[in-house]
Amino acid sequence: MCGIIGYVGYRNTVPVLVKGLEKLEYRGYDSAGVACIDYQKGGISLIKEKGKLSVLKEKIGDFSIEAHIGIGHTRWATHGEPSRANAHPHIDASGKIALVHNGIIENYAELKHSLQKKRVRFLSQTDTEVGANLIGHYYRKSRKLFDAVKRAVGELHGFFAFVLFSKEDPETLIAYKRSNPLVIGLGQGENFVASDVTALLPYTRQVIYLEDEDLAVITAKEVSVYSLKSKSWVRRHVSTVHWDASQAQKQGFPHFMLKEMHEQPEVLKKILSKKIQKGKSIFFDTLDKKFQQSLRKIKRVSMISCGTAYHAGLLGSIAIEQYTRLPCRTQVSSEFRYGDPILDHEDLVVLITQSGETADTLAALREARSKGAITLAVVNVVGSTVAREADAVIYTHAGPEIGVASTKAYIAQLSTLILLAFHIARLRKTISLSELKGLLREFKKIPDQCAKMLKENKKFEECAQKHYTRRNFLYLGRGCNYPTALEGALKLKEISYAHAHGYAAGEMKHGPIALIDHEQPVICIAPDSTTYDKMISNIQEIRARDGIVIAIGTKGRKELEKMADDFFPIPKTLEILSPILTVVPLQFFAYHIAVLNGRDVDQPRNLAKSVTVE
Ligand code: GLU
Repeated sequence: MCGIIGYVGYRNTVPVLVKGLEKLEYRGYDSAGVACIDYQKGGISLIKEKGKLSVLKEKIGDFSIEAHIGIGHTRWATHGEPSRANAHPHIDASGKIALVHNGIIENYAELKHSLQKKRVRFLSQTDTEVGANLIGHYYRKSRKLFDAVKRAVGELHGFFAFVLFSKEDPETLIAYKRSNPLVIGLGQGENFVASDVTALLPYTRQVIYLEDEDLAVITAKEVSVYSLKSKSWVRRHVSTVHWDASQAQKQGFPHFMLKEMHEQPEVLKKILSKKIQKGKSIFFDTLDKKFQQSLRKIKRVSMISCGTAYHAGLLGSIAIEQYTRLPCRTQVSSEFRYGDPILDHEDLVVLITQSGETADTLAALREARSKGAITLAVVNVVGSTVAREADAVIYTHAGPEIGVASTKAYIAQLSTLILLAFHIARLRKTISLSELKGLLREFKKIPDQCAKMLKENKKFEECAQKHYTRRNFLYLGRGCNYPTALEGALKLKEISYAHAHGYAAGEMKHGPIALIDHEQPVICIAPDSTTYDKMISNIQEIRARDGIVIAIGTKGRKELEKMADDFFPIPKTLEILSPILTVVPLQFFAYHIAVLNGRDVDQPRNLAKSVTVE
């Protein structure tokens, strides 16, 4: 799911590319590289290395290149192992074209075979090099890079984005987008292109989000966009980015993840102040009248998402069923998409994704649309592909999230989905105005309650100290906090590499109970709820087998505190809202265990922030 950057303009290019790659590294860190046209010598200079950007930076330190056009890449390998040869940029066999790529060329094997028959030599195992060589092949014939790219992409299957240049035209970058994101940054006497707007923020706030099948010609002075869909030159809307660049820095925290956990109260406050009006109604500024009308008529709801967002979807489903009385299913995007889902115009399909670029969720969205369902994106990144392609979007306002393990974006998703359920319930009159007012009164307490919990950091760390060498953890919850158990286990797995399993507490007796002995930590999420007594019985069963109980429950629950080896209280709240608070100790627990094990918290191995491959 690589990060791409391109620059053309008056600045010296390599430092611009490297600075951009620093912002994009969350998208992959198997290798990094830059290619530019050396201003003095005129040829392509290529520097690429296996491993993180820091390795590339060290290498670049030895070179001094003056360049005014170039491309850069940070890779999350899909085709070919992480190695120097497979690192991007790739140069075509003629040595004239340099290209970076995000995504997958599905028919690369057959194309490679036919190019090899034409004696084109390949140096890597990537699908990317096939793209570079196919373009090179047509370039040799037409001598026009734009025409060559246009012709080549017509033969390539799959979803991807390219940025490239030819050493024979040192003034022009070409960018092409099909599904995977590309944003152009507009400057004065310079222009940029990147996978993500954060890479552009140090230079400009004026951006163009390319659309699918756009082929952009970018020089220092102008940007022209040709749409392969409409077969014409088009004018794309210029948007202004309002994000604060400092939001994307660590601000004194050792890790982005820790900083983002501390931002949670602010995120909650922002969501509630934007979406609750006068304490008695919910307002989504992005949903127009027509869409609200269609919400009144729906008969079924589906929550579709991946990873952490899937856990948010599980709670969203509970909220929808409980308050709107509409049946709601939750499914991971990759299963939904290939499951031939039964949908029609009375279905609302909610697609939840932080980045708005998750390939499986995007494919699920397209599947739902093709079947006539009403689609609603719940997305953090403004202007992202899922946000643009769905019938409507609700933004979660978490701000940029850099840590690969999602924290603030998760609680933003939970809050947004609960508010969505309340909103639909009011539209359908399944809850009264006074009920809604009561719910919102409790909701408004959540940001301060969350802030209070963050102050317990020391306690979370002490608990992690006791357990950080263990390799197996079990997380149990019921009802609204079953998703919390899954999310807590996922957090720990992602950043500490310990095995952790989330389970419905009632199911423990059907299998996982066999794991319990004096060495097995079990994290029990048991705030006040309709199933509290059942949770207590489950905890007794663990204690009877000598298991280690780490409990999260409502403040003042003495019996729970007594039963537990460690107890983390949460403030009193409604059952439906409790997952926003119960997840906080689990985030800290995972964080400290990872730090104590010396893990790379913000960039855990094998993962990337935005999963733009299926
Ligand atoms: N398929 C390309 C590679 O493996 C790009 C991967 C991606 O965008 O994640 O290098």
